[in-house]
Amino acid sequence: MNDRNHSPFSPSLYVHIPLCVRKCPYCGFYSESVADHNPARLVAALAREVRQVVSDSQTPTVYVGGGSPTCMPMDLLGRLLYEITRRVRGFEEFTVEANPGQVDRPILEFLRNIGVSRLSLGGQSFQPEELRRLGRLHTAEQIVEAVETAREVGFENIGVDLIFAIPGSTMASWRASLQRAIELGVTHISAYALTYEANTPLTRDREAGRIVPIDEETDRQMYELAIDMLTDAGYEHYEISNFARPGFACRHNLGYWANRPYYGVGPSAGSHIDRKRCTRIADIRQYIHAIENDLDPVAETQETTPLEFACETAVLNLRRIRGIDRAEFRSTTGYDVMDLFAGVIADGVDRGLLDADDTGIRLTRQALPIADSVLCDFADLDS
Ligand code: SF4
Repeated sequence: MNDRNHSPFSPSLYVHIPLCVRKCPYCGFYSESVADHNPARLVAALAREVRQVVSDSQTPTVYVGGGSPTCMPMDLLGRLLYEITRRVRGFEEFTVEANPGQVDRPILEFLRNIGVSRLSLGGQSFQPEELRRLGRLHTAEQIVEAVETAREVGFENIGVDLIFAIPGSTMASWRASLQRAIELGVTHISAYALTYEANTPLTRDREAGRIVPIDEETDRQMYELAIDMLTDAGYEHYEISNFARPGFACRHNLGYWANRPYYGVGPSAGSHIDRKRCTRIADIRQYIHAIENDLDPVAETQETTPLEFACETAVLNLRRIRGIDRAEFRSTTGYDVMDLFAGVIADGVDRGLLDADDTGIRLTRQALPIADSVLCDFADLDS
């Protein structure tokens, strides 16, 4: 049982920059307007926390996200990225999230030269009306321009995020956005359904009847269309919402889905080390105050039991299209997945939602559009 307590993997690093030019009406993430804050002090605090938490061991992947990292002045973002590259060693992937419309050739050249290997662009849609509805500040042309310029300055690994089921969208408009992303030749495409997060202007508009959400059946068809079009175009469907050219799956996110450890740095960021999850203060000023005064920026800590860790690992692994690998699961958690979830697996197989054999378990194609409800059954063995 002792080997159920410690991960043999070195932690990856996630750095969270919760600043945006303007809040998008659908966004439920913690982020604030860059105009209301002092980005230089935030960067100094982030760099200090990186120095505090990253140990001398190898760091397999680095991911700088937000928020919108690229809404900060480039010299400040550069200072932070430079600090990261000085501190972390041996990373095989270094991703920075970027907003189209906030990156030009000098910025992209700078990111590439400092060692960023993967660019993740928040494109969301190629339809002007949908971008307007989402409150995005960029145009479809700026997505194209950002991808082409990134490639010209040497980025081989470029991802674009897309959102479907936007109010007012149609199967045709979604097809056109997917087609545009495929034509651009990006190496990675994430396709997420629009969700109605609590306390957002979008949700208030829906509650007040000012917008009509896309119905469930169309939402499902849009997801199915993404799977069909992207796999036909040669992308590997490797996670419920993620598709990549062979060899270009996001290694950082694969680490999350394998339930490997990671450091999280920045306001509201979570970390996961040795079965302990810590969430930092979701308040930029309080976070900076804590770091500047050598106080603990962690607001919440949750330690999981070995059994809870196994359930968590099953849920995360099943997000991957290859699902749970029995041998990997045993080495990560100490449990045999077939024994631990025998009842849940038998029920899922009977209902055509799970495919199981001696090597492991995976969601069937039929289960993918309702994946969250299937994963729930693995989340808590007592329920
Ligand atoms: S840019 Fe991204 S993080 Fe910022 S408000 Fe919009 S969706 Fe949220």
